[in-house]
Amino acid sequence: MTTGAKVPETEVVPIASGRVAVRWRASPRARRISMRIDPRSGHVIITLPRGARRADGLALLRAHSAWVAAGLSRLPPRTELRHGGHVLLDGQSHEIHHAPEARRGVWLEDGRLHVSGAEEFIARRVMAWLRAQAAHLLPARLRLQAGQGGFHPTQVRLRDTRSRWGSCSSDGGIMLCWRLVMAPREVQHYIIAHELAHLRHMNHGPDFWQLVDQITPHRRQAEKWLHAHGAGLHRLGGA
Ligand SMILES: [Zn+2]
Repeated sequence: MTTGAKVPETEVVPIASGRVAVRWRASPRARRISMRIDPRSGHVIITLPRGARRADGLALLRAHSAWVAAGLSRLPPRTELRHGGHVLLDGQSHEIHHAPEARRGVWLEDGRLHVSGAEEFIARRVMAWLRAQAAHLLPARLRLQAGQGGFHPTQVRLRDTRSRWGSCSSDGGIMLCWRLVMAPREVQHYIIAHELAHLRHMNHGPDFWQLVDQITPHRRQAEKWLHAHGAGLHRLGGA
């Protein structure tokens, strides 16, 4: 941080509505103090520009405590990855079944996701399994849609993004958020179509949307689904 007194990275701060977990960020480039809620961790992230003090951030937090409380209350519940919990793949919900005696890793059977090994590793193993599914399924689906529409992405990468489901760079590379593998196939189809369309239109103009609607019928439905459930996908796996 920038001024003498050390600012902790995260701390729990009491405000009018209760206690909130604050994560401090120092940004030499920021012009003013800003505050946002991280939907994944539930932290309130306060960014301090050069010269700003923790006290200034706390003042902003307290001045907007009603906004913070409302924002936190709107976060979807955190999904628990444990025995009896549920996990989504292609929009299908699978119950997690702990099979401590098994030696097979993680596998789908009879609509349930079986997880071997010690109980404390269930969440980690399910997350690793989901990421492996994403790595296996999403690039292949993108290549298939690209082939059908005559698109030629130069590269396909998966990342763990917080705000975007995909992006397309000017050199023709496409990035998808791996968490998309949890969404229904129609949603994946739309996000992939959206990024492919950016290979021809690097904007969101009328020609872009016309092309999107030519190559996927799922835009409206997908936007609706993401609006309702997208934050929940980001919340899985914790901070
Ligand atoms: Zn776009």
